Amino acid sequence: MSTPPTVTWETLDLHTAQPFGIARWTHSTYPRTFVTLDAGGLTGRGEAAPNAYYGETRGTVDAVLPLLAGALTDPWDWDGLHAQLCAKMPHDHPSVKCALEMAAVEWCAHAAGVPVWRLLGLSPAALPESSYTVSLASLDDMRRQARDAAARGHGVLKVKLGTAQDEAILEALREEAPHVALRVDANAAWTRTQARRMLGVLDAARVEFVEQPLAAGDLDGHAALRAVSTVPIVADESLHHVADILPLARAFDGVNLKLAKLGGPLQALRALRLARAHGLHVMMGCMIESSLGIAAAAHLAGACDWADLDGALLLADDPFTGLRWTAGHLARPDGPGWGVQRA
Ligand SMILES: [Mg+2]
Repeated sequence: MSTPPTVTWETLDLHTAQPFGIARWTHSTYPRTFVTLDAGGLTGRGEAAPNAYYGETRGTVDAVLPLLAGALTDPWDWDGLHAQLCAKMPHDHPSVKCALEMAAVEWCAHAAGVPVWRLLGLSPAALPESSYTVSLASLDDMRRQARDAAARGHGVLKVKLGTAQDEAILEALREEAPHVALRVDANAAWTRTQARRMLGVLDAARVEFVEQPLAAGDLDGHAALRAVSTVPIVADESLHHVADILPLARAFDGVNLKLAKLGGPLQALRALRLARAHGLHVMMGCMIESSLGIAAAAHLAGACDWADLDGALLLADDPFTGLRWTAGHLARPDGPGWGVQRA
């Protein structure tokens, strides 16, 4: 490359239209850092969506991005980029690594004039329908969320649980939306005893799968639960790194892959293929991200069994446009690059 790449970034506070609640917290404001790589008249873009659960905040992104941006010397050298990022910051700051990897990959797709999924040689299969999240709130509000989503045509709902009234919430949602596919995410909030008790409730509510019922480190508990559960059990908080896939295969039926926690689209693709090789189902998930981050996940989602890509749908001020949604059905972005534009 004749001229060295320049890497710049900008942080914006994005806001959800409604407060978004899970077992650990409720937030409305999400700082997101948007990285741009310029080289040879082409650009590549990435998004850092830091999550405190994975040790990242706006402050860590601000501190670490200047240290890691220098690793982006040759956008075609993906293995070299990953090696440099890990040499500087082993096992930490995945959302910053994600933003830089996204930018390199999109730059190459722009150079090739193709969507990223084409660059990666992925199948043109349609994306699985994305779930739409019913976040934790009052029972009445959760009823309203489910009713409104079903009325808008969403066929898959994912409900956040991890409260003292989980059974009542599931009953209420089944009343409001009897025909949708229903998924549950306990966000690591149940004890082993609670989880055992909930298995029958999940089965009766025809829940498709339950995500992360127990604490992230409790693989033995998840393995024991899986042995008696009729409902598949999916890892989210238990999966931080590509290398976690192998130990998770004995304790879970599937894994939730998120670019921001795994360190980028190429790392998510490695995790996806490793998970498949070990017989796990795979879901492409997301944080609360703009349409840029969601688009990056969408480019991989055609290779997954399940999709949970509603992050940008929950925003009031998404700074990117270009994704085409019909209720929960997201059309594969047709690029070039990530296929989204700054609003
Ligand atoms: Mg989850």
